[in-house]
Amino acid sequence: MRMRARYELHYNRVTAKQTSLVRVDPERPDPSVVGRAADILRRGGLVAFPTETVYGLGANARDPDAVRKIFAAKERPTSDPLIVHVLDTEAARAVTAEWPETAQRLAAAFWPGPLTLVLPKHGDIPEIVTAGLDTVAVRVPSHPVARAILAAAGVPIAAPSANRFTELSPTRAEHVARALGGRVDLIVDAGPTPVGIESTVVDLRGPLPVVLRPGTISAPALAAVIGPLGAIAGGPSGDDTAPRRSPGMRERHYAPQAQVYLFDASTRDEAARLGRVRDAAGGTVGALLLSDIDSTVRHRIAMPDDPALYARALYAALHTLDERGCDLVLIELTPDTPAWTGIRDRLTRAARGGS
Ligand code: AMP
Ligand code: MG
Repeated sequence: MRMRARYELHYNRVTAKQTSLVRVDPERPDPSVVGRAADILRRGGLVAFPTETVYGLGANARDPDAVRKIFAAKERPTSDPLIVHVLDTEAARAVTAEWPETAQRLAAAFWPGPLTLVLPKHGDIPEIVTAGLDTVAVRVPSHPVARAILAAAGVPIAAPSANRFTELSPTRAEHVARALGGRVDLIVDAGPTPVGIESTVVDLRGPLPVVLRPGTISAPALAAVIGPLGAIAGGPSGDDTAPRRSPGMRERHYAPQAQVYLFDASTRDEAARLGRVRDAAGGTVGALLLSDIDSTVRHRIAMPDDPALYARALYAALHTLDERGCDLVLIELTPDTPAWTGIRDRLTRAARGGS
């Protein structure tokens, strides 16, 4: 017989509200929990749930009042549009006004999976979802829990990452509970998310497809399916002046509480400078290292040298250093090859000070 799902309560003293957190099997989530999540969504509530990239904060994309609650919970400006999650390509077509050949090919190659397509939006999608733009960002997630909730809810779900605005994305339910406990109706916990960084976002409106946000699906992987891409806007090695930058791709984003300092361990000068930065920093210093160059930093975390494993580990490592009270985090720059572009983008944004 199936065990009854156990709901843990997280009380938030500021909002004086409670959020339930419930653990499910990531492959075969308890149907009663899925049903409860779907009910909350259909009735205009907020549910945090795992996708393969990061945990999302979901609301019914067809209900503007529900979507408004996402912005309030995250303290996110309404100028920053949301990604709409749907179950399959047919449902994606229903939220868009055009479905070009490139969309069809990318969907066939990468969905379900961590790829978001930006296309002209269908008139039914409320303006609050798209920040008033005439386009919508849509994606078909592969995580079994996200898919079960989408199937049970029967509506498209607008879901940004389940963190406060500009802060680190959550890859575990406890990250969500810490950031948004007392601000959402339910957190569905299925353990760590497998991809670990946000989806690749591709804009398909222009003559050439443009990567608006790099992710784990690389530019060469996209080009192999749809041919040449336009200039990458907003990426660390891209052209920041390109005309169609993605709204919401702010410079500082995905940032821990600590100051972040990136360094290149492959140059001797940098290694020396790193030592000086560490010595000058005072306070508590942490590091994410690929190599063993600076073993005197106390809170150092050895990161995998495989990009997929690095992406999976990145945010949890930064959350850990924040929890340990690090004032400064030194991060060894990863290689500059297409497989690492999404990771380097997040590291660069995390390192940009101010807001
Ligand atoms: P998040 O939901 O936090 O992963 O962020 C979603 C990101 O997708 C936004 O910050 C935008 O950069 C991008 N996005 C969403 N909708 C659109 C759109 N209609 N046009 C261009 N970019 C979009
Ligand atoms: Mg986000």
